[in-house]
Amino acid sequence: MTQSLSRALPGEHVHITTDPWTEPFWQAAKEGRLVAAQCGDCQTFRMPPTPYCPHCQSQNTKWPQLSGSGTVYSYAVCNRSPFPGVEDFVYIPVVVELDDAPGIRLVSDLIDIDPAAVSIGMAITVDWNPITDGWQQPVFRAV
Ligand SMILES: [Zn+2]
Repeated sequence: MTQSLSRALPGEHVHITTDPWTEPFWQAAKEGRLVAAQCGDCQTFRMPPTPYCPHCQSQNTKWPQLSGSGTVYSYAVCNRSPFPGVEDFVYIPVVVELDDAPGIRLVSDLIDIDPAAVSIGMAITVDWNPITDGWQQPVFRAV
């Protein structure tokens, strides 16, 4: 039944703020590219982005583009709208392990899937949900 498939959050209700440490992530997302902060010295990934590497305290940060492929580490099925005045819908917050960024996990939403079909470890890939102010939010769908 189509009605039971999970949806992305309605973009007109999603607002983000950026700072100097998160801006590169969101600018890439706007172009449909998934990137992650990686230490330019010891190569440790970090998510969310922070000014200093938690491993070696370096401020040398690079932003490699990722494939967008990952697996479900954890998820939840929600049946109530998180936004006042918006009709209830199914959405699935998901914690994603990214194939080419070991050691970090990205919190996102899993879209266009029957909640009964979701399983830990399943392969997923990034897609993009337009949100306010011209930004895009990464979401994931089954491969
Ligand atoms: Zn480092």
